[in-house]
Amino acid sequence: MTASTTSSTAVSRVDDARDVAAPALPSAAHAVHTPLGVREVRLTDGPLASWQSLNASATLPHCIEQIEEWGILDNLRRVIGESGAEFRGFWFADSDLYKVIEAVAWEIARTGTTEFDAWLDDVIGLVARVQEPSGYVHSWIQGVHPELKFVQLELTHEMYVLGHMIQAAVALDRANGRDDLLVLARRFADLLDRRFGPGREQGICGHPEIETALVELYRHTGEERYLALAAHMVELRGQGLLKVGGLGARYFQDHAPVREARDAVGHAVRQLYLNAGVTDVYLEQGDATLLAAMDAQWSSAHERKMYLSGAFGSRHRDEAFGDDYELPSERAYAETCATIADIHWTWRMLLAGGAAGAATYAETIEREIHNALAASIDGGGTRFFYSNPLQQRPDRYSEENAPRERTPWYVCACCPPNIGRTVAQLGAYVASTTADALWLHQLAAAEIDLPADLGEAVVRVTTAYPADGRVEVSVHGHVRDGVRLAVRVPSWSPDAELTSRADGGSGAARADADGYARLPLVDGARYTLSLDLTPRLTRAHHRVDAVRGCLAVERGPVVHCVEQADLPDGVAVDDLVLLPAQGVGVADDGTLTVRCAVVDRPDTLYSGAGAPVATEGSPSLDVAAIPFATWGNRSPGAMRVWLPVDR
Ligand SMILES: [Zn+2]
Repeated sequence: MTASTTSSTAVSRVDDARDVAAPALPSAAHAVHTPLGVREVRLTDGPLASWQSLNASATLPHCIEQIEEWGILDNLRRVIGESGAEFRGFWFADSDLYKVIEAVAWEIARTGTTEFDAWLDDVIGLVARVQEPSGYVHSWIQGVHPELKFVQLELTHEMYVLGHMIQAAVALDRANGRDDLLVLARRFADLLDRRFGPGREQGICGHPEIETALVELYRHTGEERYLALAAHMVELRGQGLLKVGGLGARYFQDHAPVREARDAVGHAVRQLYLNAGVTDVYLEQGDATLLAAMDAQWSSAHERKMYLSGAFGSRHRDEAFGDDYELPSERAYAETCATIADIHWTWRMLLAGGAAGAATYAETIEREIHNALAASIDGGGTRFFYSNPLQQRPDRYSEENAPRERTPWYVCACCPPNIGRTVAQLGAYVASTTADALWLHQLAAAEIDLPADLGEAVVRVTTAYPADGRVEVSVHGHVRDGVRLAVRVPSWSPDAELTSRADGGSGAARADADGYARLPLVDGARYTLSLDLTPRLTRAHHRVDAVRGCLAVERGPVVHCVEQADLPDGVAVDDLVLLPAQGVGVADDGTLTVRCAVVDRPDTLYSGAGAPVATEGSPSLDVAAIPFATWGNRSPGAMRVWLPVDR
């Protein structure tokens, strides 16, 4: 392998006058919303800001350490004789390096830290030395199976790895203008285009991801070929190009063209990354048939196949979506990456003005952030779940990707770096603008710089949400006449009123039909939204057999659960039966409690339908219902979100 050196040649970029550091920056007229970046939206306080601090201080250094420890860098070094180690891990392990680079990039964009610069110099230099003159770089192919280069696209993940390389490279350039990785990524993308571009050899990747990355590369560089290649690959999906073998075409989303594939099927992460890419192509080219297909996909994934926690994929086998309403709690696969992929896709649907509406998209992202995503990491920021079940039985057997407890790393380590990059970019999902409004989608304490076309002001959001339902917004600086503030009013508090106080008078508004309350955005004004955080008992659709006869506790956007660690000796989580008539208690410190009977029935697996009601004569007790995201932080043990009721 011939080493190539990092070029210092500047990369041409699209007019970056806005200089926005956001993961998805649509350039065409088909975007309904304009995103703001992580510099314009600074999370200042509260759980999301704390999470970003923990991400920077613990998760990112941990990921950097782990990719060295697990041989991911040695896999690259051995290609050029800098290591004698055997190849370790999966054939797509390079992607984990790129995801860590991307996570670091968003952290640099967010805070300007230089803490990671030396590491970036090292690893980007390494990638540069491993890259072939053609632009190709993939340590498993180069170092283990060079004969497989571009010949088993269904399995080798070469384009998937490039996709993550591109996303990292774009993020880094958006963060602080560092373009050395971008030079390398473009060489590889150019190689892909020369080989698989329109009119040439037909090929798509078994694991979607390259599509969304190529669109972003187009947005960032202005190079039309990258968009054309992404659109071409979207068109080629469902044409039977992949040799799908025993996994079947649905696993790869290659069973039908994207316009006809209206149900979310197969490997969940692949489906959701593919959908992000298809939506990106729509955002640039405006083909309404693509958006219609994505509307149908979104409905399938979220109205029939999403867990209450905002997780996806109910089958361990093939890490796949199940049938409609097939949502078992204890056997949920619910891969962390599927939730992350869905945040990326759902945000793009919001930008595109998809049929479900911005408020629904934003509320879904909120559910995902505060529940499935937050549960995937421990309080210390260095242990992770790959699979996020909604129930753990006491005798749960630890499986490879579904252990009983969070672990520091995985042989297939897609999830931890994915968490790192998503947490670092959280600010980008909080707000957007349209020609005449600033939209607040996520209710998080933040400082937001109004983009120049709306004025020159800082909008400050102060809140302890979701612990507290009061959200205050203040405006400091010049705002163009006619600009409004649009604040999302969650569906569980529909009557909440947005009020304002300003020199010119006061105002009040409830949510419009689209779920946003609107008032004029005025310098010096103070706005208040007071949400009703009364805990709720939630049931599932009657077709969800797995939790029929069960209720879950929710408060605001937070799903709760009961955990063995909160129960007295001798009381098992699985013997609790909820007494819903008692409601949900809220202690002064915000802790929720539910009244439960402790059932002690004869040890019979099955009994006659006329058997007495289980809770008759049973003792009862108040049980703490903790946020699902915090389970498993004390001791391993049973947990459940859905609690049975007696009848
Ligand atoms: Zn994963």
